[in-house]
Amino acid sequence: QVVLQLDKISHAYKNGDENLQILHNADFTLNHGEIVALIAPSGTGKSTLLHIAGLLEKPQKGEIIIQDRKSSRLNDRERTQLRLNSIGFVYQFHHLLAEFTALENVLIPQLMARGSKTKAVNIGRDWLKKFGLGHRFDHYPGKLSGGEKQRVAIARALVNSPKILLADEPTGNLDEKNSEHVFNLLLQVVRSEGLTALIVTHNHCLATKMDRIVTLHEGKIIPCHL
Ligand code: ADP
Ligand code: ADP
Repeated sequence: QVVLQLDKISHAYKNGDENLQILHNADFTLNHGEIVALIAPSGTGKSTLLHIAGLLEKPQKGEIIIQDRKSSRLNDRERTQLRLNSIGFVYQFHHLLAEFTALENVLIPQLMARGSKTKAVNIGRDWLKKFGLGHRFDHYPGKLSGGEKQRVAIARALVNSPKILLADEPTGNLDEKNSEHVFNLLLQVVRSEGLTALIVTHNHCLATKMDRIVTLHEGKIIPCHL
């Protein structure tokens, strides 16, 4: 079952006189339950691809189909709704709000999407526990380690139960040991929740733990064999 499909996507940036063709008739399919690694050199367009796949940026050409819905047929409000319901984002930097506790940070998407606060609190606690943070609910980000902050950010991305996780070097700012620990936890949770994920990484060792690896080459998304 196809969860996300990119159909003949083209996207370019203008840099003065130069035309930076990031994607050129690129096709890509994410099947239900798949975890795919995206590896490509800096500046080739990995972040652009994730933003396009995640409906944060509109491609200049092509169609994005998420759970059978063609995004080009949606208005802005519908597109935002589809994104909020279907996609979780994790970035290299945690982007936690310093003045809120770990639990409050995780609750923000829940409170935006749903009504009941009690229910949201329980769901938020459950997600923090899945990431080994049952003892950190009331800690502020300033009191958490780098690995813990990133785990809170991942829990926040998943709290609304999106079908798809898009992660841009989710452990890229951690040291090797922490990176491996947090990454393993991320993969374990994605698998046990039956989620589908596209994860950018520079780490070949981590990439080989995923179901398949793709790269960007001449504007296309192609299989990559390490
Ligand atoms: P990666 O994530 O692989 O490093 P990006 O998607 O961030 O690549 O960027 C790809 C290329 O497009 C880079 O050369 C970057 O400088 C350029 N770029 C990204 N966003 C813009 C933009 N909004 N306007 C112009 N150029 C951009
Ligand atoms: P730290 O608190 O050292 O910055 P984390 O917050 O990522 O690291 O990790 C929290 C807990 O996970 C700590 O008890 C740490 O010892 C443990 N841990 C870290 N890396 C690993 C690993 N690779 N395997 C198992 N446990 C780990």
